[in-house]
Amino acid sequence: MSDSPEIKREYLDDDFSEKMIEEIQEAVAHSESLREELRRYNQAAEQTRDAEFYSDRIKEIYRKVHSQKFMEVQQAVSQRIEDRTPDPEDIKTPVLKGVVVSEFDGKRIWIEPESAIKGQYGVTLPDDAGPDELPVGTEVAVDPQTFEITDILSRTKDAQFTPTETNVTFSDIGGLDSIIEVLKKNIGVQLDEERRRVAEQWDLDMDKSILLMGRPGTGKTMLAKALANEFDAEIFMINAPQLVEKFIGEGAKKIKKLYGQASSSDRPAIVFIDEIDAVAKSRDENRRHGGEEVERTMSQLLSELDGLDKEDGEQNVVSIFATNKPGVLDPAIINRCSALEVPVPTEEAKVDIFKIHTRKIPLGDDVDFSALVEEIEEDYTGRDISQICKQAAISALSRAAETEKAVVTNRDFKEAITDLREGKIGMERDFLFDQEYPGEIFA
Ligand code: ADP
Repeated sequence: MSDSPEIKREYLDDDFSEKMIEEIQEAVAHSESLREELRRYNQAAEQTRDAEFYSDRIKEIYRKVHSQKFMEVQQAVSQRIEDRTPDPEDIKTPVLKGVVVSEFDGKRIWIEPESAIKGQYGVTLPDDAGPDELPVGTEVAVDPQTFEITDILSRTKDAQFTPTETNVTFSDIGGLDSIIEVLKKNIGVQLDEERRRVAEQWDLDMDKSILLMGRPGTGKTMLAKALANEFDAEIFMINAPQLVEKFIGEGAKKIKKLYGQASSSDRPAIVFIDEIDAVAKSRDENRRHGGEEVERTMSQLLSELDGLDKEDGEQNVVSIFATNKPGVLDPAIINRCSALEVPVPTEEAKVDIFKIHTRKIPLGDDVDFSALVEEIEEDYTGRDISQICKQAAISALSRAAETEKAVVTNRDFKEAITDLREGKIGMERDFLFDQEYPGEIFA
């Protein structure tokens, strides 16, 4: 091929041998798509003089050349060329694969080609496809010169959310009785069909969204699960960071789908979003993280919440959000929720949590939870205590000569406490927790 581009040796690092360069050059000469790729990289190298980037790209080409699949395709192509004289009709224009990264804005649709120089390109809609056929995430074939969409390769599947099964009860949660009472009253009334109907007749304006604020491991998720279980509601659980996707518009779509599914359920439903701060950051924080996607997801969430508030009659969805960083939250979300602090357990609560987590475990006569609680750090959470109990029980079991006589002794607990303190267990401890609560939002 006369127009086969030459590898620019001056930008290659020392990893390339003469043989490798020859092999790449040879493969490039036989593949229109590789020629196209190399041309682009050459062009980029001339513009940016970024030798590292160039070397990496050429290594990718080398890997491709060596991959079995590529060789097979190349062989098949050469075979075809040998087998028949090409009919001009059969000569297809080379295409690049790309993916739609943002919705049609009335003028352009944005795509990101794969294996080309990174970037997003705004193109007009193809003549034979409307915006509905090209949602975000659709894989498309694009013209390598103009990046116009030439074909739709695969369509995106809509996210599906399934409710989480749970058997957590209020009696499994220690030390949070007053919060449970508040939740039972406010959320419980809305989850109970008959009470909800009466509340509507009485024109009660109840909060459909609750914000649970507290350190990781204090029982926020348990509270949401127990509410669902005790009131026979479905619970749809998601972590907010999962909502913020690579593609603009995806997070918002997921939120819509999530609430759509929750409200179309036959039973009352809870939408539980953990780490809500990931989408409900204040604008300042948002901007700092350059989050157009975060912003869109957030505005969809707000409109879902407003929708829940407005519609009366059939509405049976409540939202529970959890965060350990209330300080970074957008006031827009705080204003739409009742906020409740889920505190680190008091000494008394810690004793209760010890009892809950040892309900089924045979204990030695010497076990004294009150004394153990005095030994553990003041800021230990329910999760820390559950770890201590688990570790103590495991030690007793592994030590016991006759398992049916195994009992957990005070010493097992003490050792587990030391292990936790020394970081030998409880790897998940709150190492990411670094926020102080601003007092005013507890008002
Ligand atoms: P959060 O959602 O606040 O991070 P979780 O509800 O996920 O915390 O709690 C993690 C685990 O810690 C629970 O599965 C449970 O074993 C234990 N736990 C936390 N808080 C309590 C509590 N108040 N009572 C009993 N167990 C608790």
